[in-house]
Amino acid sequence: MSQDNYVFTPPKPASLPVAGGDERFPIRRVYCVGRNYAAHAVEMGHDPDKEPPFFFQKNPDNVTLGGDFTLPAHSQEVHYEIELVVAIGKGGRDISTQDAMSHVYGYAVGLDMTLRDLQSQAKKMGRPWEIGKAFEKSAPCSPIVRKESVDVDNGAVWLKVNGDIKQEGDLNQLIWKIPEVIEHLSGVFELAPGDIIMTGTPAGVGAVKKGDTLQGHVDGVGDIHLKVV
Ligand code: MN
Repeated sequence: MSQDNYVFTPPKPASLPVAGGDERFPIRRVYCVGRNYAAHAVEMGHDPDKEPPFFFQKNPDNVTLGGDFTLPAHSQEVHYEIELVVAIGKGGRDISTQDAMSHVYGYAVGLDMTLRDLQSQAKKMGRPWEIGKAFEKSAPCSPIVRKESVDVDNGAVWLKVNGDIKQEGDLNQLIWKIPEVIEHLSGVFELAPGDIIMTGTPAGVGAVKKGDTLQGHVDGVGDIHLKVV
């Protein structure tokens, strides 16, 4: 029996271009960190004290390369969340903070698009977040930049809507730094090449409407552009 005797042709993996060449980074899993900037935890009604990090996931095929974002018809409150995205190049389990950065392939600028009305309803009812977080095209990202060229200990993170600044923060405000995120995440999941981690959003999240243009930025990584249609 052939190893690839599938009953139908499996889809190609989701992927993002790697900046500066024609290679693509295939995506295996999409992890997201919740409430990783104190000011955003406060705006969402939570205590910013350093509680252990928590994670949720999106689907790999939710990842798109910016461009047009279609408003889902089943939500009345679609929010932007600008985030630094970490791309894992070397897998592992129980990775220490000392080793963590050697597992990083590179970085991207991402938007953790969120159906806030459905997420809030799910929170109230003690239900999972998937319908509010892991919907179609919910993870627009920029091309991936190889890590050699990036300092991610400091750097501005911002988002403009129609040219007006809406979100503003700095990577030095992350409650859980990238090595700590990798340590915690690899303590509960086996990380593998192709995993990406959306590291949390600074304060200032808000809703989009049809016709909006979004520009998100992370110093040293780049920009993402989105048009809401
Ligand atoms: Mn987020």
